[in-house]
Amino acid sequence: MEFHAGEHNSSEPNAFSRRSFIAKTSCFGAFYAVAKLIPLPALAAELASDSRVSQTPIVDKGFASVRKVGNGLYATISDPSKGNSTICNGGFLAGKDTVLLIEGFITPAGAAFQMDALRMVSQVPVKAALDTHYHFDHSMGNSFYGVNGVPLWAHATAAKRIIDSYAPLQSADKEAVLGPFEKRVKDAKSDMERAHAQSDLNAVTRLFQVANASVLSLPNHPIDPAKLPISIDLGGLTAVIESYPGHSGTDMIVRVPDQNVVYTGDLLFSGWYPVCFDEKATVSGWRDTLKKFASFDKDTLFVPGHGQICGQEGIATIREVFDDIAGQAEKMYKAGVPAEEAQQRYVVPEKFKNFPVFAWGFTIGPAITKLYAEWQSK
Ligand SMILES: [Zn+2]
Repeated sequence: MEFHAGEHNSSEPNAFSRRSFIAKTSCFGAFYAVAKLIPLPALAAELASDSRVSQTPIVDKGFASVRKVGNGLYATISDPSKGNSTICNGGFLAGKDTVLLIEGFITPAGAAFQMDALRMVSQVPVKAALDTHYHFDHSMGNSFYGVNGVPLWAHATAAKRIIDSYAPLQSADKEAVLGPFEKRVKDAKSDMERAHAQSDLNAVTRLFQVANASVLSLPNHPIDPAKLPISIDLGGLTAVIESYPGHSGTDMIVRVPDQNVVYTGDLLFSGWYPVCFDEKATVSGWRDTLKKFASFDKDTLFVPGHGQICGQEGIATIREVFDDIAGQAEKMYKAGVPAEEAQQRYVVPEKFKNFPVFAWGFTIGPAITKLYAEWQSK
């Protein structure tokens, strides 16, 4: 996900300048409104010594680097603090016969960057590219694959979700889209609420800009989740595609069981607050999915949708984040705090204070309202 709308927007009358915004919200803003400035952490020490993971990336452009994480396996890891071409993570699986690319990224240039990295290590034909889910930061670069004749795989409902979610933005009046978010900033009752609302406005502004700067390009090979898992033989390298609930209702992962490597898409945010806003996101479903990931081999290497490559400790950490959100929410629920207020009142604990928050109303806020809805329906 992306998180720095504000600075592109300073010519518009209603926009805060980023600097004045930071000055006004210094006690809240640092954690999420300027998440862009939080650089990608280095590889954890235990991964730096993992024989599957190469110390030096095959290419590093700042906005993303590509690193070997197994035999024929590569991870594309984005650092949005250094540029916007990719934003999400991805990777590729290069067998002896064919290659599977992962993610369309947020721009065609991002997808092209990954293709160039592939061609540094393998010349075999590409079988397909896979969007792990429909979200814009994973799919707006899809047209690169269309232009290059690469079949594009995704969950059966991903194409429809791309159209339903992003096509309307392309014909929409900007003020009509952003107005309600600007009003929330203006009407905020406290600095904290204002900071939350501003982070949402930044996110939606950026989404609007990206949608209007992009050619929507749809997956042309829908994968029916009912038919998963499927195994793909790439030539001496077998990838397994599976689907799990949680983040978007269209989430698929790519596993390489022989090497204990998993490309999770956004079912794993590594060292980030999870993005939970999607109408098909399910907090209980997602927590069950993470429990399942925790049952994978103890030496599993996870290539997350956002954040640094991690092992099982990364799964343990995101489960702790969900536990913390649920714990704080449950106390408020039992105390009769309304959902609207509870989603504002969550306090980021010290141990997660460096975790990027894409935007409050796309992460913590909806996690809490979804939890409330689950408890109310019991
Ligand atoms: Zn996503």
